[in-house]
Amino acid sequence: MFPVELLRGSDIASIDLLAVTVRAEATSELCTAEGEVKTAVTYRCARCLVEFPAHLETRFREVFSRSPLTPEQEQAEVVHCPGDEIEMDPYVEQAVVLALPAQPLCKADCLGLCPACGTNLNFRVCGCDIQEVDPRLEMLSQMYGKLTEQ
Ligand SMILES: [Zn+2]
Ligand SMILES: [Zn+2]
Repeated sequence: MFPVELLRGSDIASIDLLAVTVRAEATSELCTAEGEVKTAVTYRCARCLVEFPAHLETRFREVFSRSPLTPEQEQAEVVHCPGDEIEMDPYVEQAVVLALPAQPLCKADCLGLCPACGTNLNFRVCGCDIQEVDPRLEMLSQMYGKLTEQ
């Protein structure tokens, strides 16, 4: 299973095939499917944009019911599934999406890129005086930009 959809508009540079193990247990009414997903991901650091590999491992558990759901089952997020086959892909993908970090960082204290010259500050100090960029001036220039656009 190759989760191409997961790559769209994210900080993920690449993601390997998902290794999925599922165990299912069924009674006449309910089916419980649970398992693990493992894969290798290459993230793009949200601060310095450097790509770095990481291991992703997560679990999922879904309960499916053949009959229409009771309010309690709805509350417990049981899925109504009248057919004989259950397509697990969407649930596996959902589990992976939930396990992905919102802002992947190459390291917790990543210094990011210099906003003035773009140097990766983890490797080199560029010497730009970043303090010069006054956020109020920045706002003014953005407002000015908007005004001139009209
Ligand atoms: Zn970084
Ligand atoms: Zn710089």
